[in-house]
Amino acid sequence: MCSNSRPALCVLAAAIAAVAAAGAAPAVAPGAQPAADLIIRDARIWTVNPAQPQAEAVAVLNRRITAVGTDAAVLLWRGPNTRVVEARGSRLLPGFNDAHVHFADGGAAMTAVQLNDATSLKEFVKRIADYAAHAPKGEWIRSGNWDETKWSPATLPTRQDIDAVTANNPTALDRYDGHMIVVNSKVLELAGITAKTLDPPGGLIVRDAAGIPTGALKDAAIELVDRVTPVPTSAQRRRIIENALHEAASHGVTSVQDMTLDYGDLAVYSQLLKEGKLSVRLYGAPPIEKIQDQAKLGLGHAFGGDALRIGAVKMFADGSLGSRTAYFFEPFSDEPGNRGLLFKDMLPLSRTRERLKLADASDLQVCTHAIGDAAISTVLDLYQEIEKQDGPRDRRWRIEHAQHMAARDFERFAQLHVIASVQPYQAIDDGRWAEARIGHDRASRTYAFRSFIDHGVRLAFGTDWPIAPLDPLLTLYAATTRATLDGKYSQGWFPEQKVSIQEAIAAYTLGSAYAEFQEHDKGSIEPGKLADFVLLSQDVLTIPPAAIRDTRVLMTWVGGEQVYDSSAH
Ligand SMILES: [Zn+2]
Repeated sequence: MCSNSRPALCVLAAAIAAVAAAGAAPAVAPGAQPAADLIIRDARIWTVNPAQPQAEAVAVLNRRITAVGTDAAVLLWRGPNTRVVEARGSRLLPGFNDAHVHFADGGAAMTAVQLNDATSLKEFVKRIADYAAHAPKGEWIRSGNWDETKWSPATLPTRQDIDAVTANNPTALDRYDGHMIVVNSKVLELAGITAKTLDPPGGLIVRDAAGIPTGALKDAAIELVDRVTPVPTSAQRRRIIENALHEAASHGVTSVQDMTLDYGDLAVYSQLLKEGKLSVRLYGAPPIEKIQDQAKLGLGHAFGGDALRIGAVKMFADGSLGSRTAYFFEPFSDEPGNRGLLFKDMLPLSRTRERLKLADASDLQVCTHAIGDAAISTVLDLYQEIEKQDGPRDRRWRIEHAQHMAARDFERFAQLHVIASVQPYQAIDDGRWAEARIGHDRASRTYAFRSFIDHGVRLAFGTDWPIAPLDPLLTLYAATTRATLDGKYSQGWFPEQKVSIQEAIAAYTLGSAYAEFQEHDKGSIEPGKLADFVLLSQDVLTIPPAAIRDTRVLMTWVGGEQVYDSSAH
């Protein structure tokens, strides 16, 4: 006896019961199904599901995928209120899942002074001057993402360069890699940084020949400024996050893994979720120094709903290649005596061990930034110790960037089931100058995506936005071509490390989903999974890889809800 008020569901239930009783393959008679909310038809679907790699159409019911197949089969789900989208032969993929972003920083960078593509120190100063001319007196000028390697000579900017044009505003401008800032004299004064200030552990105050700070601050020294920087209001946070949400939707990014989750921002995400306005799925990793907060609550990894989750911690093992603070076994090739430094999170290692033990006891996921070969090895040692103490289990601990690998560590990476969370765009950006900094041999194991796959290491793709653009098409282009931005290596910088477009898409969808314990819910287009899709202007699977970067996003759906339509812009 069926007591359901919807007769169609009773019919469905009866049909399923009949099929089950008969032991036949599950099939439901046409007309018996509840109708889909959305059908996308006449598409070229790459599903990332090896059991059914290609399809023409997909149906969505109640935010999830209910059918994938030919137009004819999927249209059986059509009802009077079903919205049908004609894809006109365009390529449909699972929504991109960016495994490593700084989401609010990305939103903030969109409205901040734009310094990344300044081609000279003169232009850098001019852009700051133009921006400062319109900034309210006393307001901080931040972000910027400058990159002195695009100038010649590639000298670091100083407070003297910017003081004259920022007289009314405390100014602290980020280097694009996030491992160095340059501040004006006003900020040095506010932060109390003088010639007498000692370098903090894991940080460096850059000084001139006379020992006076130049305004450039590396790694842990940046925190001296963070302490005196005003905290944004929740209205400011919301504006910034709304910028970021729009940017994500316009690039087909339906999930992000936020590596600097701030509790003030978490409150804004939560509010947006309640209002039905959180148009990206977000998994956040607060910094490991706050591990007690999550450990005390006993949440474990990936806690929350499918739109908003926490349960990871972010740790830093070292700095960056660009700032010469990545930690290597051997010195930088162009700076004898400097092999980089371990970040303060690793000092002392005994404290790091305690934190990792606590993370494991609390079932939290650990995501550790490690760039230099010695930093990566140190992190693998620590992860290995935990596995030895606590026994093997499905931890999915990650190394973020995993940039410059020691040859012997690929094997260990695979054996420990550590996830390589990598950002291919960096390969075509840093590839311009990395070899001069670390030499040919080490460069051959840099951004070594092919080697990771060949060793059976699971990859998750991302961008590190705003350190690189959020656009996944640029990342797919980078991973498949390795053609550096300066045009110097059009056939690929260390071309043997290229991956196929199918591998790149898999790493950006199912790989990233696995890296956040969500592979059962997203990462491929198959029945039961969340209906997150992106429709593209070109078929990235068949065009030459060099053309992938010219591809545009036509439409984006999150949970069957359309969050972007290029024709409306
Ligand atoms: Zn990052």
